[in-house]
Parts: sequence; C-alpha cells; structure tokens
Amino acid sequence: MRSAMVQAPIGDDVYGEDPSVRNLESLAAAKVGKEAGLFVASGTMGNLVAILGQANRGDEAIVGQDTHSFRKEAGGMSVLGGVAAHPVTTDAHGRMELERLEAAVNPDDAHLAISRLILLENSYAARSGAPISPGYFVDVKAIAQKHDLSIHLDGARLFNATAALGVDAVEITKHVDTVSFCLSKGLCAPVGSVVCGSAQFIRRAHRIRKQVGGGMRQAGVIAAAGIVALNEMVDRLAEDNANARLLAEGLSDISGIVVNPSEVKTNIVFIALSEEETRSAHEIARILWEKAGVLIGVKDNRSFRAVTHYWVGQGEIETLLDGFRKVCLQS
Ligand SMILES: *Cc1c(COP(=O)(O)O)cnc(C)c1O
Repeated sequence: MRSAMVQAPIGDDVYGEDPSVRNLESLAAAKVGKEAGLFVASGTMGNLVAILGQANRGDEAIVGQDTHSFRKEAGGMSVLGGVAAHPVTTDAHGRMELERLEAAVNPDDAHLAISRLILLENSYAARSGAPISPGYFVDVKAIAQKHDLSIHLDGARLFNATAALGVDAVEITKHVDTVSFCLSKGLCAPVGSVVCGSAQFIRRAHRIRKQVGGGMRQAGVIAAAGIVALNEMVDRLAEDNANARLLAEGLSDISGIVVNPSEVKTNIVFIALSEEETRSAHEIARILWEKAGVLIGVKDNRSFRAVTHYWVGQGEIETLLDGFRKVCLQS
C-alpha cells in the first residue's frame, strides 16, 4: 500500500482530474453493482452524504435503535441535514422486526414528519458484527417500495459480512439504493470510504460532499491505498472472522469471562466480565497492559470489545489469551 501510494498517478480531484480516485470509484461501484461511486474521507462522511442526498430537512429516517449512523456519528444527520431519526428496536442480529419497521412509516398526516429513508447496516456493529443475510434485504426492499422510501446501507464492514455469509456483495446491495463501505478498518487502507449508487445520485452526492468539506485535491495518494484494499484485502477477511472465533473460543474457557463464541460470525468479539469478577473492565485493562503488554479496548465498566484484522492474527490472539489467563488467575 505504501509503495502504491508513492507511485500513484494524481491530479486535482476537485476538478475530477485525479486518475487514481476515478479508478478507485469505478472499482468500488463495480464491487457493489452500482453505476457510480464517490470517494469520501470516512464511513461517517459516507453515511452523511448518502442521507443528505436522499432526505430533506424535516424528513424522517427509520433506523435500528443501536445503528452506527444514529448512535455513533455525533447526531450528524439531524445537526447537518435536519433529518430526524425514527428508531426501531432490533433483534439479536441487528434486524428491525418487519412489522415494527412498517409501522414506523408515517401516514400522510400534517402532524407527522415525512418518512423518506430506511437506514440499514451490515455487518451490524452493535451486535458483535452480526452478518445479515440477503433475505432480510429482500423483505425490507418490499416495504420500501410499497411506501416509496429509499434505502441506504451502511456497509462499513460489508465485506466481513459477505465473507461470513459466503455470498457476493451484490446479492445484498442490489436491494438497496445506496451503500457506503470503509476502505480502512479490515481492508487496511489508512483513510477513506466509498459511497455508491446511481449516476444521478452520485452527481447530487458530489455537491453534498463539497458542502461538508470533503472535496479533496490530490487525493490519489490515499485512493491508491484504497485500490490495493479492494483488490487484495477483501478476499482475506474470512481469516479475520475465523481468528475472532478462535479468540472467543479461547476466552470462553477462562473463568471470570463471559463470551458466547457462537455469536461471533465476523471479526468483532464482545467480552464481558462475570459477576464473580469484582474488578472493573478499566482495572483489568490496566493490569493486562502492565502484566502482559496487551492493550484492549474497554467498552464499558463490565466489558471489552476486541476486533481482529490483518495485524492481529493467531500469534496476537495467543498473547491476548495468555494475558487474560494470567490476570484472571490472580484474583
Ligand atoms: C466504523 C463504522 C462507521 C464509521 O466509519 P468512520 O470511518 O470511523 O467514520 C460507520 N458504520 C459502521 C457500522 C462502522 O463500523
């Protein structure tokens, strides 16, 4: 990636003249079966541009109550787009129950905001990165069509989901109007996401990207890493998913820790402390660092969140397991 970045042909992408950015955008669009793509700075910017491109001020977007675009993006859709979220409860896999989803669509009534958009997410980060299979998208699409709503898919981790499901991304993305995915995270690029959709939508999204300050000039330097990500990193994500399962299985044998390996289908592992463990997650994280040289992400007072990727393989997982064994035996 570093050498691709050094060698990348570049131009001014604000004028649409950067060949590496154009190349990345068409590669990305092809990967998800859409007409066009737009390179953006982050997954958050991808969602924002997609939402602002499909909903007006005062419109409502129907979302899972723990979806990233609603809970983890600093309220951007309402702050910057005036789009209100209409949250719907999700099941253990991050799916909104279809009846509830349909009931969230507002009738034509002056008291109510206009329902415009359904926001989906796959894999579903807040549910251990659960992969959601194409059938759900078929069902949601039917509801969207019936009520004339658009669907945006936050596919930040889409290829971890498709690796787990063993399906081509298009089997999912053909049921949504727009999709964004990260080139960073599991795909290892240092920066960037792509939002994809119809050519007409992308023309509109291009102006919105400018409005939110996302027009970048010689962006080919970073797009080059994204091209390597798409060409070389997608097919290896099954390894990350398998390593996450390995981590969960190893942890499930350690007393003081509660993890459910069968929940782990992609690369995210939620690790909880059992009731007998009286120390807080912060305390344990500190001891793990001091005694085993392992840094772990604390999710809340009683749990951690670990994510596998290219740089966290079986060796690192062994180190983490050894660290937990040491720390937990101490108590
Ligand atoms: C990481 C993530 C995002 C946001 O991506 P950033 O590049 O961090 O802005 C959006 N949605 C999901 C599901 C994510 O996991």
